[in-house]
Amino acid sequence: MRSSNFLLSTLKETPADAEIVSHQLMLRAGMISKLAAGIYTWMPLGLRVLRKVEKIVREEMDAAGAQEVLMPATQPAELWEESGRWGKFGPLLLSFTDRHDRSFCFGPTHEEVITDMVRRNVRSYRQLPASFYQIQTKFRDETRPRFGVMRAREFLMKDAYSFHLDDESLAATYERMRQAYCAIFDRTGLTYRMVEADSGAIGGAASHEFHVLADSGEDAIAYSDASDYAANVEKATTQLVTAEPAVATEAMQRVATPGQHSVEEVAKFLKLPLQQVLKTLLVKGTDTPVVAILLRADHELNEVKVEKLEQVASPFEFANDAEIKAAAGCGAGSIGPLGLDVPIVADHAALAMANFACGANSDGEHLSGVNWSRDLPLVNGQDVRNVVAGDPSPDGEGILSIVRGIEVGHIFQLGDTYSRAMNATCLDENGKDRVLTMGCYGIGVSRVVAAAIEQHWDDRGILWPQALAPFDVAIVPINLQRSEQVREVAEKLYAELTAAGLDVLFDDRKERPGVMFADMDLIGIPQRLVIGERGLAEGNVEYKLRSADQSEDIALAEAVAKVTEQLSK
Ligand code: ATP
Ligand code: MG
Repeated sequence: MRSSNFLLSTLKETPADAEIVSHQLMLRAGMISKLAAGIYTWMPLGLRVLRKVEKIVREEMDAAGAQEVLMPATQPAELWEESGRWGKFGPLLLSFTDRHDRSFCFGPTHEEVITDMVRRNVRSYRQLPASFYQIQTKFRDETRPRFGVMRAREFLMKDAYSFHLDDESLAATYERMRQAYCAIFDRTGLTYRMVEADSGAIGGAASHEFHVLADSGEDAIAYSDASDYAANVEKATTQLVTAEPAVATEAMQRVATPGQHSVEEVAKFLKLPLQQVLKTLLVKGTDTPVVAILLRADHELNEVKVEKLEQVASPFEFANDAEIKAAAGCGAGSIGPLGLDVPIVADHAALAMANFACGANSDGEHLSGVNWSRDLPLVNGQDVRNVVAGDPSPDGEGILSIVRGIEVGHIFQLGDTYSRAMNATCLDENGKDRVLTMGCYGIGVSRVVAAAIEQHWDDRGILWPQALAPFDVAIVPINLQRSEQVREVAEKLYAELTAAGLDVLFDDRKERPGVMFADMDLIGIPQRLVIGERGLAEGNVEYKLRSADQSEDIALAEAVAKVTEQLSK
């Protein structure tokens, strides 16, 4: 590709509304162009990278035996009514009506459509198991589209679905897909982790997420330093036993804490470490107006876990000020479990506390030196908090660390939720109709591009991993317009590298060398050859890896070999 015939639309300044580095660099490199909130055009440079991700995904899906299909983006409401999701999916679903006043949605996912295709076309167990995939545009009307294509409204997904007569077959395909996902993310050159996405299911989990590790990631991932255990913090389980509380050595006292509301304020005021303060949170209950959740003050409530408790209302909601006042007789800052007449749920770690401080259910007052059994009745321990770094791994091996991740893939054993609702059945060996069981497997193809940049950049721009680079090598001629010799050599190199099957960007623009260098660095081409008269006089060209600090002079005759050799590394 000659840059004179390629839209290089680079920016020097960082766009003000781009918060994270991948969004900034995708705009600065001219990879994407914003059309509306969360809706982007992929420009020629960006599309080349997107296509590279697609190619890897397609090859590994084909290798895993999945068959490619292409489903419509427009989906009739009736299908979603059949599955029961039309009313449930909520504002994420973009719906509209056609001229006949029939309702449709722009597909946020395709379980309904694929299940319909299969029930119409797959009749016998002999055609099973079967997996289908597509690489297709989705629309989700996200509450907060942000970070460019990272959390977009319109985005490119690879979605695959598998169909089986029984759960054993589903488990086998799930495992094959898991391997395909590992192969895909290995090939992209990104650092990633596969994590359990289902609570409590250590080993044989029915759902895994794939996360690219990056500080800007929206998810927190807990992993063990001694085993393979890794899970989304949303779902990671804490130690499931309550340690024996320390011995009660202090007498319980009522202390004045005027104006101290947050647990941090109270701890500071009472000169106690946060670990010595009990936090009481009131949330809406199922059968009672509120339920109290007790946590060590340095721990965070996990809403996903709490919502699963029978006593707690779903969807999860904190009690409001009026409800707090009615239940505890005070403001949110002074609630405590003593004398509180509501169901009480205590985290395991809260039950291990001794001589602690907590609210006294009276504004401006707390209790200190409180102890379980002696001052308030023991309750059963629950897992209702987020794990923190330093917690023991729930599989009993090692200690947990926490890193941030970007969810780029998700595989899931769906079971028969959709097939049953939509009556997708097949004849088994005995000629009997059986409801199919399903798996689904997604990859955020466009999100992978942004995630790759989050992991690979420096102050000059993007540092593409080889497999995703829009071009393998850049040829930058000095004084192309004036030097016949430079032109000849550059053209020859361009022809030879292209003939060798490489993606070459020949920067034949009438620009100053500094501008060309800055652009090639910004767009992140892994290798660069600079052709100038001075070097050529000695039979040399200048070679530089984007990731290296220094360039080196190499013999012109060796340039093609040098570049291709690097590619095969
Ligand atoms: P998230 O938790 O990030 O909202 P999700 O769990 O809703 O994602 P899935 O339904 O599992 O997403 O979709 C499969 C994949 O599609 C995700 O793993 C993610 O990589 C990608 N994806 C989901 N939502 C978006 C989005 N708004 N923009 C870009 N990619 C997305
Ligand atoms: Mg997901």
